[in-house]
Amino acid sequence: MIDLKRNSKKLPVKATGCRTRASSIYTPNQREDFKVSRGKFSDFLTCPRCFYLNRVKGLDPPGTPGWTLNETTDLLLKKEFDECREKQAPHRLFAPNGLSHLVPFDHPEMDNWRDSLHHGLILRHKNSSIILTGGVDDIWQDTRTNKLIVVDYKSQAKNGRVDKQDYLDDPYHEGYKIQMDFYAYLLSGMGFDVHQTAYFLVCNAKRDEDGFHQTMRFDEYLVPYNWNMSWIEEEIDDMVCLMNQNQIPEPNESCKNCAYSDQYSRTVHPDGIDHGNDSQGSLF
Ligand code: SF4
Repeated sequence: MIDLKRNSKKLPVKATGCRTRASSIYTPNQREDFKVSRGKFSDFLTCPRCFYLNRVKGLDPPGTPGWTLNETTDLLLKKEFDECREKQAPHRLFAPNGLSHLVPFDHPEMDNWRDSLHHGLILRHKNSSIILTGGVDDIWQDTRTNKLIVVDYKSQAKNGRVDKQDYLDDPYHEGYKIQMDFYAYLLSGMGFDVHQTAYFLVCNAKRDEDGFHQTMRFDEYLVPYNWNMSWIEEEIDDMVCLMNQNQIPEPNESCKNCAYSDQYSRTVHPDGIDHGNDSQGSLF
């Protein structure tokens, strides 16, 4: 996609391809604490090269616009669950799903844990300077065992009903499960007893209504997922190891951005890039 750099007045400004805030760039073997979010960990799993260029070399990749409709469902769900949290009452979705023994977890840090931009769940990785963070959508509690349940809200618009197994098996949802595994890992590492089953609260917009009429209607599903954190620590070790080295790793050969960049370079500079030229040459 085309992503223009803009200033605070929303006016286009020259894009440099580099990030400017030094504290967001990691120096190999640095001793000062450095935060790595769940999103960046996912980037590492998808393409170590892009993760490395971004976090260690300070490159500023093109972004994507916000998902404001999805964010709005999240925001409204949050209001519903907070009402139940305050009363310590089960949410309306719990009884029909055989979960009357659950309540939204009430904890003074809840707002911080949900703030993915500035806080989130926080865990230091072993004795390193790496601080892992992840902004969770919600946490519920089993009143029979006091175990905590990780919850992620998901909005989508697909024809027909959502089959829970198909939802989990969908290759496009692999990242969702990684997200859950990571949150469960953080919460456990923070000393909480985490229930083996997490839930995706899936809101599926109904596409077969006869018109919009100022209303978009949704079906709701609770999709249970048994998280697995056994693989996470090793991957984090590999990620930290990568951050502390000076060699740029290999790209993901399925990535259309890199393929585009490569073709861009060949087309715009058939005789090779002239580094004396000020014009933007290669994307990556
Ligand atoms: S393959 Fe290239 S563009 Fe794609 S994610 Fe990796 S480094 Fe980034």
